[in-house]
Amino acid sequence: MKADALIVGGGLSGAAAAICLARAGRSVHLLESQDGIHHKACGEFLSIEAQQHLQHIGLDLDVLCASQMRFMRLVTNGRIAEARLPFVARGLSRSRLDEALIDMAAKSGSYIERPVRALDLLPGGIRTNVGERQGRAILLATGKIGLRTLPKMVPENAHVGFKMHWRLPGAALARLEELIELTLFPDGYAGLQLVEGGIANLCLVLRRERLAALGGRWEDVLAMIAPLSPGLRAVADGEPLFARPVTIANLPYGRIHASDDAEDIYRVGDQAAMTASLTGDGMAIALRSGWLAAQSILAGQPAPIYHERLRAMVGPQIRRGMVLQRLAEKHWLSGAAVGVLRACPALLRWMVKVTRLPEAKADATLRSHRQL
Ligand SMILES: Cc1cc2nc3c(=O)[nH]c(=O)nc-3n(C[C@H](O)[C@H](O)[C@H](O)COP(=O)(O)OP(=O)(O)OC[C@H]3O[C@@H](n4cnc5c(N)ncnc54)[C@H](O)[C@@H]3O)c2cc1C
Repeated sequence: MKADALIVGGGLSGAAAAICLARAGRSVHLLESQDGIHHKACGEFLSIEAQQHLQHIGLDLDVLCASQMRFMRLVTNGRIAEARLPFVARGLSRSRLDEALIDMAAKSGSYIERPVRALDLLPGGIRTNVGERQGRAILLATGKIGLRTLPKMVPENAHVGFKMHWRLPGAALARLEELIELTLFPDGYAGLQLVEGGIANLCLVLRRERLAALGGRWEDVLAMIAPLSPGLRAVADGEPLFARPVTIANLPYGRIHASDDAEDIYRVGDQAAMTASLTGDGMAIALRSGWLAAQSILAGQPAPIYHERLRAMVGPQIRRGMVLQRLAEKHWLSGAAVGVLRACPALLRWMVKVTRLPEAKADATLRSHRQL
């Protein structure tokens, strides 16, 4: 059977596109390589734009028990700056969020096939480990990892990401309430916040060469960061909830897919554009791109036009995010900057604001989605 849309990957962008298309009456076939609930390397910080997209889809973050964050603490070189966030952020584990979305995609009429691993692109379809699947439009939503036949774009000295959930002692848990703590160190940063159920998520990113210099192991990284901030000192006394951290390598931060000629291949999420994770807005871009691709398909717009629109929408934000990430990695500079931010917390809020997607209210894309 040839579906109207064949979606490869059931993460945020794939599920968002599936929900939108299926609700508009299109036949959707979604392939996901994971059998069921799984963890992903992610800071699990939901920005206001990501929340707005989830709300439009109909996902209730309160029902899913997402945490709330109103304050941000920036730590580097022993200096601390704190400011109120320009919005209330939410924290929710990706295992819970992604399953809720894929469940919603199934309920809206999409046919979900899992576990199925997509291998190669074919004309009008995908070759998978269980045979060929076809679609009139193909949405590549495989996250940072592309299909094996597509060219790999691995930046030099690329970043590596780690994530671990922790149960913290009571006092440490109370100190993290309503707070996201970002600790900068040479060539990387660590983000610590609560998700649902009083669980703390520690997600950190550092350059491959720095990791190698530290010894290359998770334990080496933990030992290096433990003394750097109040939150990280508390983590050292916490109980890790996974046997090993979730890891991801070769992160192509800053990449925005340049449109190619294929009229029927729509890249969404990290396949289309990847912002610096320090900005905490990648999930919003993933959801937005899923919606935008669906809208383009419904309007009969070929993929190159969709890619052009997405590029115009997210390009400036991603470029600003990359500048911020590079500055944050320069330790001497970030140390001086924290001094300035401490004196002027409004600057911190401004930095958060300029790395966001344009506001949903001012965005015609979302208005038209609501009408579907
Ligand atoms: C370290 C780190 C921290 C981050 N922190 C944040 C944050 O705090 N806040 C934020 O907003 N963003 C954050 N991001 C960004 C965010 O995680 C991503 O932008 C978002 O997950 C992208 O969604 P996606 O749909 O493109 O891909 P994913 O959510 O990665 O989904 C891809 C799906 O495709 C499936 N898949 C992959 N290959 C195949 C295949 N061959 N066949 C079938 N299925 C396949 C996978 O199993 C997966 O379910 C972070 C990113 C990183 C790396």
